[in-house]
Amino acid sequence: MNTLKIPFSAKTAVIGISFDVPNQKETVVIGNPDSVKRFFVSGLTDNDIDFRTRKLGTLIDEMNELALSADGDKIQKVISASSGLCSVIGKGKGNKSAENFKNELFELYDNSANANMLFNYIIFFVLTNFNLNHKALSGEFHISVNQMKKSAEKFAEQYNACISDMLMPFRNLPVVPESKVRYWDIDKQINSPSSELILHVYYSHIGGTWQTGYAAENSFLAILRVYVDILKQANVVVRNCAVCHKLILSDRANTSAVCGSDKCRKEQHRLTTNIVRKRNKENPIQDFYDTFSRNCSNLRRKFGDNLSARKRFDDEFQKVRTAALAIRTCPHRLKSAKKSMQI
Ligand SMILES: [Zn+2]
Repeated sequence: MNTLKIPFSAKTAVIGISFDVPNQKETVVIGNPDSVKRFFVSGLTDNDIDFRTRKLGTLIDEMNELALSADGDKIQKVISASSGLCSVIGKGKGNKSAENFKNELFELYDNSANANMLFNYIIFFVLTNFNLNHKALSGEFHISVNQMKKSAEKFAEQYNACISDMLMPFRNLPVVPESKVRYWDIDKQINSPSSELILHVYYSHIGGTWQTGYAAENSFLAILRVYVDILKQANVVVRNCAVCHKLILSDRANTSAVCGSDKCRKEQHRLTTNIVRKRNKENPIQDFYDTFSRNCSNLRRKFGDNLSARKRFDDEFQKVRTAALAIRTCPHRLKSAKKSMQI
């Protein structure tokens, strides 16, 4: 049986992040508000937090992993256990009825060093919110049966609204039409006029350097926003792969970046070549130059292993090429150049 490293009877479920850009590291921490604050302010750890320090950009990989699994695997299991917990509250049942659902979530929680911390946070969040509402409901045992029923419904509704808000972005992810694969539309996530997001900022002066930690209660989107901003300051942009739409980190100047997969790189190359060809076709000078260059390359191949002939050809080609490049920007010279190059 898996156990949760951190107690989930916390006040609220907090996710925090800090950055070490020069060393390309990020630290994600989840836990209760006081412990996360203590962690960022004084560097102290306790049993009420779970954290990982890993390569900068890992949060993006975690989002990609959860988008892929949103359709039927990991996220779906959380949704199903969470609905079970909601019915426990709604029917005013005791802790024993919640055990199975809680155990399902414990099993999904990953204690390993390479755990998906975003997924762990979702589990922690569900359990914390269940505990808060279930505990509050249990405190009302003295009221009448009728009132108790109403109260149970109220807490179940409260719980459900909170969980739905958290899981909504995962449930509403767009799908790539051809592959049916889910992805995060990062521009939409960042630029949507969402409701107010509250972020706590903590400063510490540990080991001679100032550090900043960011923490959000009940919100992963607030962390995503600060994440994108901090990376931008380091000249790294979070964007969608131009082909498969997976989230990627790329250089700020690169506007049509693709992910590292062979398939996407080849597709991008094909698209770029097509665009360039089409553009060149519309430009008579470029088209002329391309034909000339292609003819010369074909001719050159005919020399085979005759190195001295190749050398003579290359020298001659270089001269004409320089002249051709010079007239590329002067359309009125095109006619006479065509004549002199006999193409
Ligand atoms: Zn891709």
